[in-house]
Parts: sequence; structure tokens; C-alpha cells
Amino acid sequence: MFQLKEVKEEEFSHAVNLASWNRNMLNAHWAIVAVVMTGEFIYMATGDQPPLAYIFDKVLPSAIVMPGILAAVELANHFFRRYCEYFIILGGALLVLTLLVNHPGVPVMYNACFIPILTSVFYFQIRKVLFSGALMSLISIALFVATRNSPYPFALTDFITTLAILACGTIISLGIMHRGIVLIRQLKMTLESRQRLLIQNIIMDRLSKIDPLTGLYNHMTFHEYFDRLAEQSDKFGFPLQLAVLDIDNFKAINDTYGHRAGDAVIKRVSEVMQRHVHPNDFVARYGGEEFAILFTEKNMNEALEILEAIRVEIAATAHEELSGQPVTISGGISEYRPGIGKEISFGLADNALYIAKKSGKNRIVIKTQEQEHISG
Ligand code: GH3
Ligand code: MG
Ligand code: MG
Repeated sequence: MFQLKEVKEEEFSHAVNLASWNRNMLNAHWAIVAVVMTGEFIYMATGDQPPLAYIFDKVLPSAIVMPGILAAVELANHFFRRYCEYFIILGGALLVLTLLVNHPGVPVMYNACFIPILTSVFYFQIRKVLFSGALMSLISIALFVATRNSPYPFALTDFITTLAILACGTIISLGIMHRGIVLIRQLKMTLESRQRLLIQNIIMDRLSKIDPLTGLYNHMTFHEYFDRLAEQSDKFGFPLQLAVLDIDNFKAINDTYGHRAGDAVIKRVSEVMQRHVHPNDFVARYGGEEFAILFTEKNMNEALEILEAIRVEIAATAHEELSGQPVTISGGISEYRPGIGKEISFGLADNALYIAKKSGKNRIVIKTQEQEHISG
């Protein structure tokens, strides 16, 4: 049991050390006072002492001293929050002491010595259990010494039995706490491993969706999103435009400046795209130097405006890897009409890109089922 020290108490005490728990514990002590007062009235009704004498002898001292002790604990807690739990245990011990002093010669009252120990178990800290065990033992010793010459002495056998019971109670309390701590630790470990698994899943999920060079969504994810968005558009008529973009003369760039330079250009081009689109749009690296953008919540003019801004910025961006030369892109865009399906929509955008290439590159071509328009 004493390997308990190895368990980090603070980890667990943090969870139970909250102010609201202390409030509950204090309320429980006020309830104990209420129970004691009720008990006193029942004693008064059933005992042999005249009621008035009993009230002055027993009820009034309890009615004044016990709430006074708890009021002092409330005050101390208000000013010294740090030692709150110790004040509550001490308050409980003083309540028990009041009870014992008020009812000398009633050995059964010594059972109440357990109250502060039970309170200390509540805090899940070894030192608090030891504190309460030691405190109650000291109170028992003090009572034994103080009542030796009184008419109702604390009998030696009762005293030794009380000390033994307090020691057993403290040991059992430490055992209960140990079991609780081990259970909490196991629960914590289970939760932590589950959390790790969740994070790994999220990372794996992200890795399977993202293109590592550009950080854009990959080909497969593009099709998944396009499927979903097309379905929404079919059902609810949401506006949706699809653009396909391709870097012009990229083979020549690779041949002249090398593959690494080509990679750097792809990365920079993708950054420009990401910077221009809105959060509800979706940019993917469709293939080598080809990109696809799905525009949502926009009309064709708004989508085209963004595409043009991308095209113009890319054409004006110098790449140090290409000795300061810029690259250009061509693009085709189509409006998704509910019911036309992904294939036709993609075919239209691809065809528009083909026209853009054929008609001189560095331009965007719009193609819907009804119209064709070249911009740039
Ligand atoms: P066009 O203007 O008609 O698009 O001509 P292009 O040269 O860009 O077209 P083409 O499809 O013939 O060439 C694309 C080149 O892109 C071929 C390939 O070597 C290169 N490429 C594909 N993926 C990557 C990549 O990840 N990194 C680099 N550096 N190059 C790539
Ligand atoms: Mg290409
Ligand atoms: Mg190309």
C-alpha cells in the first residue's frame, strides 16, 4: 500500500480539489450539525434529565459552539483558500471534540472520530488522510489526559480501543484511496490512448487527402468533393462552377531548369490559387501541373473574376528558380447545371482549357452548354 507515494497525487487531487467540492463538503458539515441538534432534541425527549436542564446543559452549548466552529471555517476558507481542505477536516474534528466534551461518559460517541477521516478520503490525498488520522488520535489522547480526574473519565480500555480503531480506519482509508487512484490512473491511460488513436486517425485521414508538395487536396479527394457538391446542386440547385487550370509550357520549364525548379513553381502557383479563393471554394492538385477549383456560392462572373486575378498574379510572379522568369497558366471553366452530371461538367471545363491552350495560352475560357467565351 505504501507504494502509494509513487502515484502522483497532484494529478488526481486536481480533479477533486475544486472549490465546488469544498463547498459541498462544508454543506455536509452544516448538515452534520443539523443531525446533531436533532439528536439532542430526541435525547431530550427520551432521556431522564428535565427538558429545561437538558437544553441548558447540552442543546445550547451545541447550538452555539458547533455553528461557531463552522462559521470560523467558512471565514478561514474565505481568506486562506489554499488550506481550505485542512480547515474543513479540522472543523470536523472540532465538531467531534464538542460532541465528546458535551457528552462525557458516553463511549459510543467516540465512533464520531471517524467523520474527519472519511472527509479526508474525499480529497484523494495521502497527506490529508494521515493528517486527519493523526489529528483524531491527538484529540483522543488529549481527552484521555484531560478527563483522568473528572467524574466521567475516558476509560483506558475505551481509549486504547479508540486509538486502535482510528489506526485501522486510517489504514483502510488509505487502501480505499489507493484503489481509487489506480482506477483513475487506468481510466486516464485508456482515455489517453484513445485520444492518441483519434489524433493518428485525423493525421492519416489528412495525409490521404492532401497532396504533399502543395498542401492542396489531391485528385481522389477532388472527385469525392465534386460528387458531393454535384449531388447537392442536383437536389437544391446550389450554384457550382468547375475550373481546370494548367501551367503553360511546363515541360520546357522542367527541361531547361530541372525538376526541382519545376516543383518550386508548382508550389508557388498553388499558393497564389489558395490565396485568392474563398473559404467555401475547393482547390485541388489534379495531376502534375494541373489544378481544379470548385467554386461554391458564387455566380459565373464572380468565379471568373477570381480566376482572372489568379491568372494575372501568376503571370506577374517572377521565379528565382527560373532566373526571374514568370510562368503563365491557362484555364477552362464551366457552370454546373443541376442534372447535367459530373462527367459532362468536367468535359466542358476540360474542353474550355483545350480551347484556351489552342488560342494562345495565358487565358481563361468559359464553356457552358449554351455558350463559349474567351477572356484574358
Ligand atoms: P501545355 O502548355 O500544353 O500545358 O504544355 P506543357 O509542357 O505544360 O504540357 P505537358 O503535359 O506536355 O507537360 C507537363 C509536364 O509536367 C510533363 C512532366 O514532366 C511535368 N510534371 C508532371 N508532374 C510534375 C511534378 O510533380 N513536378 C515537376 N517538376 N514536373 C512535373
Ligand atoms: Mg498538363
Ligand atoms: Mg501544361
